[in-house]
Amino acid sequence: MRLLIVEDHPILADGLITALKSADYAVDHAASGERADHMLAAQHYDAVILDIGLPALDGYEVLRRMRRRGSKTPVLMLTARDALEDRVKGLDLGADDYLTKPYDLPELEARVRALIRRGQSGGGAELAHGPLMLDTAGRRATIKGNPLELSAREFGVLEVLMLRAGRVVSKEQLAERLYGWGEEVGANAIEVCVHRLRKKLEPAAVNVRTIRGLGYLLDKATHD
Ligand code: CA
Repeated sequence: MRLLIVEDHPILADGLITALKSADYAVDHAASGERADHMLAAQHYDAVILDIGLPALDGYEVLRRMRRRGSKTPVLMLTARDALEDRVKGLDLGADDYLTKPYDLPELEARVRALIRRGQSGGGAELAHGPLMLDTAGRRATIKGNPLELSAREFGVLEVLMLRAGRVVSKEQLAERLYGWGEEVGANAIEVCVHRLRKKLEPAAVNVRTIRGLGYLLDKATHD
């Protein structure tokens, strides 16, 4: 899952980036409204954490432009304490939730998880593929009810493949969902990850096919 943090205060931004990276999100950061606007127009995010007071464009304007482009990406606004007007304005413009500063990092993480859950197609937190089940909210995978141990990146790859079952997903698309901008992605990182994932999926008879030159494909589940 990929997040954009829009926060101009360097210390607050660092705290958010560190906390969310250690919760296994791919994290990008914009320190101005203008930069955020460019990134949001160019890249899909699963959720945005948006400060209001920003240089160049304020958070309201960033949100207004996003929604005008038709983006449904969930937005958590960061507002000043007791600023009721800010909260009302943010929600009117299409923010999904808000948190007042100073916030608690564990609370912020919980709000982000809830937003992503609500933002996902159909709102269902569980994905099924034959005997394989993925609980995207709890980050747990099972085969016929037995726990399947996956690393955060293996889970991420499997989640994308399951969401797009029956369609080819390129390595670039996978890397984009799993890594932040500027993060080094080794040439073989995705291949190694898929290789490990295949081994772990053997008991479920779920096959991740390599489509040469294009990427990977998870066949649509067949139901008996
Ligand atoms: Ca600010």
